[in-house]
Amino acid sequence: MEPFYLRIALPTPLRGLFDYLPPQRVDPKALMPGIRIKVPFQSRTLIGILVEITTSTTVPDEKMKQVLEVIDEQPVLEADIDQLCQWAANYYHHSLGEVYAAAMPALLRKGKPADSKMDLLKTNEQQEKLPTLNDAQQCAVDMITKAKDHFQTFLLDGVTGSGKTEVYLRVIDEILKLDKQALVLVPEISLTPQTIARFRSRFSVPVLALHSNMTELARLKVWLAAKKGDAKIVIGTRSAIFTPFANLGLIIVDEEHDPSFKQQDRFRYHARDLAVMRASLNHIPIVLGSATPSLESILNVKRERYHYLSLPMRAGNAVLPQYQMIDLRYAKTEEGISDVLLKTMRENLDAGNQVMLFLNRRGFAPVLYCADCTWIAGCARCEARMVYHSKPSGLRCHHCDSRKKMPSCCEQCGADNLQPVGLGTQRLEQMLQTHFPSVPIIRVDRDSTQRKDALQTLLDQIHASPKAILLGTQMLAKGHHFPQVTLVGMVEADSGLFSADFRAAEQMGQLLLQVAGRAGRAEKPGTVLIQTRHPDHPLLKTLIEEGYQRFSEVLLTEREQALLPPFSYAAMFRAEAHAEKSASEFLTGVKKMCSAWLTDAVTVFGPVPALLAKRKGLHCQQLFVQSSHRGTLQGFLKRLLAEMDKEKGKQTVKWVLDVDPVA
Ligand SMILES: [Zn+2]
Ligand SMILES: [Zn+2]
Repeated sequence: MEPFYLRIALPTPLRGLFDYLPPQRVDPKALMPGIRIKVPFQSRTLIGILVEITTSTTVPDEKMKQVLEVIDEQPVLEADIDQLCQWAANYYHHSLGEVYAAAMPALLRKGKPADSKMDLLKTNEQQEKLPTLNDAQQCAVDMITKAKDHFQTFLLDGVTGSGKTEVYLRVIDEILKLDKQALVLVPEISLTPQTIARFRSRFSVPVLALHSNMTELARLKVWLAAKKGDAKIVIGTRSAIFTPFANLGLIIVDEEHDPSFKQQDRFRYHARDLAVMRASLNHIPIVLGSATPSLESILNVKRERYHYLSLPMRAGNAVLPQYQMIDLRYAKTEEGISDVLLKTMRENLDAGNQVMLFLNRRGFAPVLYCADCTWIAGCARCEARMVYHSKPSGLRCHHCDSRKKMPSCCEQCGADNLQPVGLGTQRLEQMLQTHFPSVPIIRVDRDSTQRKDALQTLLDQIHASPKAILLGTQMLAKGHHFPQVTLVGMVEADSGLFSADFRAAEQMGQLLLQVAGRAGRAEKPGTVLIQTRHPDHPLLKTLIEEGYQRFSEVLLTEREQALLPPFSYAAMFRAEAHAEKSASEFLTGVKKMCSAWLTDAVTVFGPVPALLAKRKGLHCQQLFVQSSHRGTLQGFLKRLLAEMDKEKGKQTVKWVLDVDPVA
């Protein structure tokens, strides 16, 4: 009898599939691709996915091992998810086994059975009264609904308060009438109980959340409920893109520009891009919504790949905020806050309103420095400064989370003259307490929201205090609605203007408008004060005077001239090693390897140190590969990786490939 081999995708970084002998007394022909199989691998036991059954193998007899256990009878991954995973593994040049693992709930990865008793799904009987749609909203709903039977990508461009969510809700309602399901992807930070509550109060069907703070069992249950068709609406973060659905009819990606849709370790996918691919595989419409769309999506509209839908602000409704710049070079300041900002804060507070200050830097001060010898407290493991935190007091590295007691004197000269320099949210909070002793000051950043439910408690406090100062990092800027806020102060707008990262300006603009969008909702018009040392910077001026659309046009022109994404396609090799030399030598080797078949269509540059050149004791170097054609880049990478795989036994550094890297 001919021997059969099981070809299995295993969760290991090694690209390629692995052949094993089927267990005895099991008819290999009865096994279905897509089932989980437990196998011995090196000195470990791994659970992989059966890809195919074959009669030929390159593994020599003496090395051939037998599988340990066949876990499933039926495939755990649906055909469309399997297709999506295969596409992703190919596009991101990542191990298929690791992609499959990322697509499964943790309990399935660990071999637990793919079924679970489901609690009775809670539904809501009371449907809230529907608001009347304006013309632009109605038009958007009609256009998207019309595409219900085929793949089409819509970019829904609507400023804060223009009623994007209402459009989502109406379209989902139409999809539910067809007995189909909807998937809503949201950024990590905006998946709050309010978001879920808004959907639940609207629909009388089960609405389930899926995110990384849930228990493994809860996640598995949602996954299974969606697969069975019981969960009609799933709202989730990045990895929810792999949720199986019995009958998916619509995908919505809210805040599509948000950087948190990009996975930044191991399997480095972009959930928005996978969502578009999934909609295409499922022949369904997808809506990408944002008040500040990504340049990628705007270009796709220009190239007529995406259909553009715009929601302008409705006249007579909330008024757009007024912007005003404060020139920090000439302003009188105290702890980085200008007297103009302080005075305007007082006026707004005296009128019984809330004020919000945005500062994207947590801790007390970003630098602790010796005034005698200019020594600066640095992290021993990273090429980064330690941030001084006041409560609890000490030094912390924001890259590796190393912590140190506050030194009593300089580590270099021994002088007792250490000074915190620069402004963090804790220092700002302390300074504001002296100026506004009777006003509640509510600080929202990663430190103040450590404990479970802490964020919710702070948000409740904000809603319960008509007069208050809200102070925080981007946690405060995203997804939350504060109708009482009439003044927003951007303490510092400059960090995005002069960054080495070419996406920094785009992100600065998006964040600034997002923060500004918190002011002047409902009947209260708002003011946004922006503190800057560069009030004449052309990008900042364009953004404030002409709006995001013009701002994005300017950025797109710059990117086109510099041949940067989205006008070109990039991939980045990142190598890490204890010795800087090993990392750069490895990448120089990679560069040499491709020089033989390098053409004009592909550029390779580097190796160069990463923006954070040393992290957690490892030196990090980067090599960029770029081409103006996606297909050319893909072909090039495929060939290069095949060459590199031949050498993999000799590699001593840790490396990854990041396709379409973000920062
Ligand atoms: Zn010193
Ligand atoms: Zn560190």
